[in-house]
Amino acid sequence: MPENTEEKREEAIVIIGAGQAASQAVQSLRADGFDGPITLVGEEPYAPYQRPPLSKAYLLGQFERARLFLKGDDYYSGVGCDLLLQTRAKAIHRATREVELRDGRRLPYDKLLLTTGARVRKLNCPGADLSGVHYLKTIADVDGLQAAFTEGRRIAVVGGGYIGLEVAAVAAKRGLQVTVFEAMDRLMARAVSPQLSAFYAAEHEKAGVTLRLKTGVEEIGGHGKVEWVRAGGLTYEADIVLVGIGVVPCEELAREAGLACEDGIVVDRNARTSDPYIWSAGDCTRHVGREGHAIRLECVQNAIDQAKHAALAMTGKPKTYSEVPWFWSDQYDLKLQIAGLARPTDTIVQRGDPASRKFSVFHLRDGKVAAVEAVNAAPDYLIGKKLIAEGTAVDPARLADTAIKIKEVVG
Ligand SMILES: Cc1cc2nc3c(=O)[nH]c(=O)nc-3n(C[C@H](O)[C@H](O)[C@H](O)COP(=O)(O)OP(=O)(O)OC[C@H]3O[C@@H](n4cnc5c(N)ncnc54)[C@H](O)[C@@H]3O)c2cc1C
Repeated sequence: MPENTEEKREEAIVIIGAGQAASQAVQSLRADGFDGPITLVGEEPYAPYQRPPLSKAYLLGQFERARLFLKGDDYYSGVGCDLLLQTRAKAIHRATREVELRDGRRLPYDKLLLTTGARVRKLNCPGADLSGVHYLKTIADVDGLQAAFTEGRRIAVVGGGYIGLEVAAVAAKRGLQVTVFEAMDRLMARAVSPQLSAFYAAEHEKAGVTLRLKTGVEEIGGHGKVEWVRAGGLTYEADIVLVGIGVVPCEELAREAGLACEDGIVVDRNARTSDPYIWSAGDCTRHVGREGHAIRLECVQNAIDQAKHAALAMTGKPKTYSEVPWFWSDQYDLKLQIAGLARPTDTIVQRGDPASRKFSVFHLRDGKVAAVEAVNAAPDYLIGKKLIAEGTAVDPARLADTAIKIKEVVG
């Protein structure tokens, strides 16, 4: 019998970018019943890994490299996912539905998922390319930074956001002399309340970190390598510089293919892009959040939940994405957990005393919890997240009263 050449081949899915969202997407696609071929294209030399420990326990040397990987070595081949590492996707040909790789190969797809993440924003002052200037995004970046982390050395941290402060905390713990330069007037200004900024500033100073707020770095100098940093008109000696000034979405593949991009690949609440055969999830996307505004989130929660929603939509079971965003940060022995997105106009309710190093800040909007920032207060975070999701009204006086258990504040 001659082979039936008319036989329909299996539907193929290609995923570009092998990080947190991609790993989740592979798992969800299989769990949702997709049994066709999946090809995962990643430019890094590693299978998908989690980044949060990179600036925390892993940098401190208290987290083994093997634990970074989201799935074991043989997981991807075991579920029939072809993992192409050290392979950069160069272009998307939408008319023929093919992904062009840098080496010229072309991968046909029926459905495509873009999980390209975000890249670090580069410092562009004079001297920014000197040896000794570090960024923190990948395992390779930590390896480079680790080698420079020697007790007594002076590190200038550019940027008082999460990454900069987590590195500052590790560096202080490891005996380096740390100075943090932050252009704004408070730490983590874009992410947390002024109460939290003040608390964390005091904690860093207690640990011996020098903070320079309202101080942008103007120049980095040295003979072939970092020797000093000029900021706010003053010169500070430094052996290492760590830059943590935010990220920019990796959207160029999508933009060049003509997909809608606005500081992020624009997706709908099913993670679908402006092309009906292409979805996108994670740091590279911009979506309409649960409050109705277009947002770009750079966190594990969004990478995981959006990837799950992309997989559902790609397997024909779309579900509206409207999860409560959550985030965490570890600095010293302080576990900060945040749920929801605060606004400056929210009413603030503080629960617990910051001096006890266990407290939380609730943000109320129209009498309901809109966001919670909890420091060493996991129950406040968990209940707060639930109240946000349910849109429950709370009595601010009861919320502030630590004599009432958090789970008994409502009801
Ligand atoms: C140091 C650090 C600490 C963090 N800490 C926290 C934390 O405490 N809590 C939290 O919620 N979030 C944290 N984050 C953020 C979190 O890690 C990201 O939100 C998450 O990794 C996003 O997942 P993603 O899949 O969108 O992107 P990524 O995990 O970044 O993966 C994207 C991948 O795509 C690859 N890629 C891009 N373009 C191409 C191409 N053309 N071809 C092939 N491959 C390509 C990239 O190289 C990358 O490997 C941290 C991030 C960093 C860097």
